[in-house]
Parts: sequence; C-alpha cells; structure tokens
Amino acid sequence: MADGLVLIAGMFDPIEKLKEHLRHASVSTDSDFKEGMAGSRSFLSTLFSEMGLSVEIVDTDLHPIVLAKREGDSAWPHVIVYGHYDVQPADPLGLWETKPFEPEVRDGRIYARGAADNKGPQMAHIAAVSELLDENPDLPLRITFLIEGEEEIGSPSLLPFLESRREELAEADLVLLSDTVSPSADQLVVTVGLRGIAVMDVEFEGPNSDLHSGLHGGAVYNPVQALCEVCASLHDADNRVTVPGFYEGVTEVEDWEREELDRLGSDEGSYRQFLGLDHLHSLKGYTSFEAIRYLPTLEFNGIGGGYQGEGSKTIVPAKAMAKISCRLVGNQDPKIVGERVKQAILERVPKGITARVTMGHQGAPYMVVPPGKPNSPADAPQRLNDAFRATERAITEEFDKPPLFLREGGSIPIIADIKRTLGLDSVMIGLFLPEDNLHAPNESMDLDVLKKGIRVSKRVLNSLASE
Ligand SMILES: [Zn+2]
Repeated sequence: MADGLVLIAGMFDPIEKLKEHLRHASVSTDSDFKEGMAGSRSFLSTLFSEMGLSVEIVDTDLHPIVLAKREGDSAWPHVIVYGHYDVQPADPLGLWETKPFEPEVRDGRIYARGAADNKGPQMAHIAAVSELLDENPDLPLRITFLIEGEEEIGSPSLLPFLESRREELAEADLVLLSDTVSPSADQLVVTVGLRGIAVMDVEFEGPNSDLHSGLHGGAVYNPVQALCEVCASLHDADNRVTVPGFYEGVTEVEDWEREELDRLGSDEGSYRQFLGLDHLHSLKGYTSFEAIRYLPTLEFNGIGGGYQGEGSKTIVPAKAMAKISCRLVGNQDPKIVGERVKQAILERVPKGITARVTMGHQGAPYMVVPPGKPNSPADAPQRLNDAFRATERAITEEFDKPPLFLREGGSIPIIADIKRTLGLDSVMIGLFLPEDNLHAPNESMDLDVLKKGIRVSKRVLNSLASE
C-alpha cells in the first residue's frame, strides 16, 4: 500500500481476496504446513483489521483461532459467523490439473484446495460484512467472526475454547455459516439437522495363537465365526438395529420434512444406478433418502482376522476385529447409544471367546426447526426466526427458487457443541455443490454461487440489523 493511500472498508474484490487466501497452504494435519497455517491466519487478521474489526489470535494447544469482532450497542443483534481456515491435504498432487495452492479461474469456477471447503463460502460472509459496513458504517449489528484452524482434524480445540469464552459468546443471537452442501447451483439447501456419531473398535480373542485347523479345527470357537455371528445379529431382516433401546430419542419425521425432501426430486432408480446397485436396503417404511437423514445407523466400517494373503492357510485364527460407527439423530445421546451397542455385543459373545469393545470419538446430533412449521418451537428466539425468514427470502430472490430446509446425513459435531455450550442455533446456508470435489483433487467453487452467496449473506445481516 502506497503512503497516504487509505483503505476504505469494503473496498475489495472478493475473488481477488479469495485467491490471496487460497495461496496459503493451510493444511492442519501436517506439521510441514505450519507456514501456510500462519500465512492464512495473518491474511485473515489483516483483512479483518482493514474492515475495521478488532482481531484476536487465540492460542490453542495446536492451531490458533482467529476471532474478529465488530462490537457495538448491546441492544444490537449479534451474529457469530463460523468458518475454518484449514484445508485437507492436496494429495495426490499428480491428479490436479493446476497446482492446488495456485488458484486459477476457468469456466466460471475457481480451482484450488480449500476453494469450496471452506475459504470460498467463508469469503461470501466476509465480503458481505465488508460491503455492508462500507455502505453503512453505523450499521446496528454486532458481528463476531470465529475462524478455526482445526476443522479438518476434528476441531479438538474448539470445545475448550467455547467453554472458556462462554460468557462473551453466549450472549450472541445465532451462528451463521456456510460449510454444508446444496444439490445444485439453482437449488440451495439450508441444513436444519445433522447426524451425530459414535465409533468403536471390537476385538474378539480365541486361542492364544493361530492354530492348525487339522489338529484343532472343530474343537474351539473360531473368533472370526463368533465375530461374524455377533455382527450379523445386530440387524434384523428389515435392517432394524436389534440393540435394545437403540432407537430411543429418535424424533418423528414431520410431514413438512417429507414434502421438502420430495421437492428435492431425488429418484431411487438413478441413485441405485449411481451406486452400481440393483437393490437398496433401508429400514421398512422409509425411502433411502429418508433413511439417510432421519434414522440412526449401525455400520461395519471394517472387519478382519486370520490369513488375508494369497493362496490358502489352514488355520483357526487367534483373533478377529471389527470397526463400527453409529450415526445418530434427534435427541440420541452418543454416550448412551455407544454404551448400549457395547453391552449388546458383550452379552452376545459366546463362551470360549474374550471380547473387548473400545469407544472412539463421539458427537451429538443437531436439529433446529425453522419458523412457520407445525413443530416449530414456540420459544424460539425472535432473532433466530428473523434470520431464517430473511435467509428464505434472500435465497428465493437471488437464486430464483426457495431453499429447501433439510436435515443431512453427515455430522458436524461442533454445531451441537455450540448449541450445548452457548445455547445458540445455527443457520447453515449450503454454498458448495456435489461437483466441487471437496477433499479431492481439482477442488473448485462456482463463482456465480459465490457472488449470489455474498448477496444472500448481505440481505440476511442487513435484515437482522433493521429488525
Ligand atoms: Zn469444511
């Protein structure tokens, strides 16, 4: 910046700024990328400072959090905008058409690692705030940007951070973010539910070493057999999980939810074709699209034991193992469900086998009901309802089609953590698309969606400020 040149808030080109951010290789999982992480933080901190926000870099055990605030009258609405500055590794590098950290625009898309997850969608909100403050420096709205650097590695520092700053953050009205998917550039989705998760490792042990199947076969319980029998017993023929109490806390699927899902227009035939399957296997009474969103699951992620090499090896193996994950919905508690699955497995272990079940990471499900639905809570905060209504209006006008309010099958445990620690609900506007190649080579973002996303965010924030 030349001497004497004053930067005016809002005066930046969001696409040029996004390119600048994408050049920082902020891979959180790999310590070789410390410089990229620091570069990304300092990019954000400079940008927020130029917008007139006060910036704090909050140290954590690993990657610091960027916290930028526009404070003001305590009567003004207060919106927390969540995002993450870290990205997935770019490997395999050979499959990229252009270098992952040298952003390039072609055919209306910007290509780079992090373009869609999450630097592009996050830029929509940053640019929106910048433009709003430029147009009206007295805008009666408080804004806190909370941009973390550990989302791609499970956000280990976020919960302790939220707990330690509970007082100052909990007085906000809502969280606004764009880190979820929409089905296409002309059909946006506002995500109103996420599944929770509970994972575990199961180990079955039989004899103290692999045995000769001729000398010992027929005399001992084969751990692979026992594990398969127990695993197979966890679902019935209708694909219902047989763990006692497994469905406790599952909430009803409302008619309006089924109608929104119908408007999505998904067809099971093409879904089957896409998966290369001639049959789908969802729980009786639910379509596969409903099952993905509204039901809990118990899935085997891996199973093994005994000889896996070429040819044959005639043994009774000493051990077998399985990995299980459960996706949870509604009011299910991951600790309770995990414990029930563990107990069901342990109770079904036959004599002659010792079993161990080790619990892994867990996250609670999340659900918010937007206003105007038959099951909308009567006590929902006014400003949250205003934000949902403004979001619906803004998307309808900018994208020429109203958004769909849908629960999703995936898990973002931090959204439930935010609800639990701060009491705040989230308005999640999906700004990336299935073709954006998140976590894969040639990640990109549709620039038209970005531009409309900026206008949507501006309208939502502006409408909150003027309520
Ligand atoms: Zn993300």
